[in-house]
Amino acid sequence: MSNSVVNYDGGITASPRELIYPETVEQIQAVLRDRTKYPSPVRAVGSYHSLTPCASSNGTMLNMSKMNRIVKLDTAKGLFTAQAGLQFIEASRALRKSEVQFMTNIEIGNMTLGSAACCQTKDALDGVELGQVNSYCTAMKWVTPSGELGEASEESNPELMRKMRASYGLAGVVYEVTFRVKPLEAIHLTYMPRPLEELTQKEVDDLMDTSEGLICWTINRTCVFQQRRKANEPHILGPLKAAARQGLWNFGEAYAGHLIHEFAKDRGIRDRLQNTLFDANLFLYHTLRVFGGITILAPDKTIDYSKTPQDARYAFTFWAFPRGQWLETLKGYVQFAEKYFHDTGFRCNMPLGAYHIHKDQKSLLSYTYDEECFSIDPIHAPTDVKAWHRFLGHFNDWASERNGIPLLNQSPLVTREQCERAYGGRWQEFSAFVREADPEGRMMNEFFGGLVSQRAAHA
Ligand SMILES: Cc1cc2nc3c(=O)[nH]c(=O)nc-3n(C[C@H](O)[C@H](O)[C@H](O)COP(=O)(O)OP(=O)(O)OC[C@H]3O[C@@H](n4cnc5c(N)ncnc54)[C@H](O)[C@@H]3O)c2cc1C
Repeated sequence: MSNSVVNYDGGITASPRELIYPETVEQIQAVLRDRTKYPSPVRAVGSYHSLTPCASSNGTMLNMSKMNRIVKLDTAKGLFTAQAGLQFIEASRALRKSEVQFMTNIEIGNMTLGSAACCQTKDALDGVELGQVNSYCTAMKWVTPSGELGEASEESNPELMRKMRASYGLAGVVYEVTFRVKPLEAIHLTYMPRPLEELTQKEVDDLMDTSEGLICWTINRTCVFQQRRKANEPHILGPLKAAARQGLWNFGEAYAGHLIHEFAKDRGIRDRLQNTLFDANLFLYHTLRVFGGITILAPDKTIDYSKTPQDARYAFTFWAFPRGQWLETLKGYVQFAEKYFHDTGFRCNMPLGAYHIHKDQKSLLSYTYDEECFSIDPIHAPTDVKAWHRFLGHFNDWASERNGIPLLNQSPLVTREQCERAYGGRWQEFSAFVREADPEGRMMNEFFGGLVSQRAAHA
């Protein structure tokens, strides 16, 4: 009898024959060793908040939620060790009691630490040094595909760590991780709206060079640059502002976009309502600019998405582009999206995101391995999933032709050719690494089977 496992927004369903909730390392070993009782592929699943079926299996799924214990917090050394099933938000709350925080506090609090260690992530506001969470993972322990124990650390084996940070559960099930932490930090966020037509690459370059962290939200043809600046203490209203920011972005915008698409069936009315929503959004950013922005504690950026109602959940994709070509690419994207809207009636109902991420070679699949990037991230609260997927198919082709780099857990519907093109020789290296770690394909699901390179022979 198979089980049904549904991801965060109901967009992905898996039907594993065995769904196991391990509580000990020995249980994970027992699963991986018994191929008859626990059919392949064996996939670890965190909180299934990926935008792709990277965690899916019709064989065996290991839900890591019961392995969520904090192992050790060493504030003197700035190191935090926990089991892989612990969610980021829970870990963050625990750290806060000791006045420390993660180096990068990503938006989605439901990502598990196991996934954070071995998958791709992005954060532009805390990415002062490095924008990926796993770049700050200093040690990992895992069960190999054949059921043995493996471990690596930054000191003992940096090269293996570089590969494991990109392993996506294909080299084994991660059960314990150590991350760097630092004292709790306040950040100040400012907002600067600029008409797209007036922007120059030099202005964008200056913004990237002078901001501690930078995100750009594009609404129709206005770019709003959200910059992180140094702050000493958050004002007394800090937590309130953080809660309001979270409510607006993670509930209000997606919910309103959803509602408009659900109920305004007439295209003219729907477009007018959508434009009103975008205008309200811009008004808010202009107001924030006038009031000088907001100051919050960095971990307050992280949200608990399990509390967000289903009809206020959104989907997105993320493609990284070389920073020097970003403005040209953004202008090209706006034209592409406007033409697509004109031809098909589909457009994304939330602002377009763009994250500035620094160069980083800590992971084999770092999307900023060769150079800094500024991403382009269409965001949408879908009511018609097929229309969203059709758009993504066209967008992926468009992005790939412009040297874009996708993420395996956050860029839906990418193809092997697109990965090979984006990652070049590193895609061969990644493919060879996972084959060597798992020669019998115990962890290889349909999703990764369709992506790994057929050419890679040896690590
Ligand atoms: C609304 C929303 C907002 C988001 N915002 C951000 C954001 O700001 N920044 C960002 O970087 N990401 C963001 N994401 C994406 C999300 O963080 C990633 O997709 C993340 O990988 C999800 O974590 P998870 O624990 O749910 O992993 P899952 O989706 O369950 O699994 C992801 C992959 O990790 C593997 N895996 C999981 N646990 C283990 C383990 N213990 N051992 C080995 N392999 C394992 C799985 O097999 C799979 O391949 C967002 C997602 C949503 C839905």
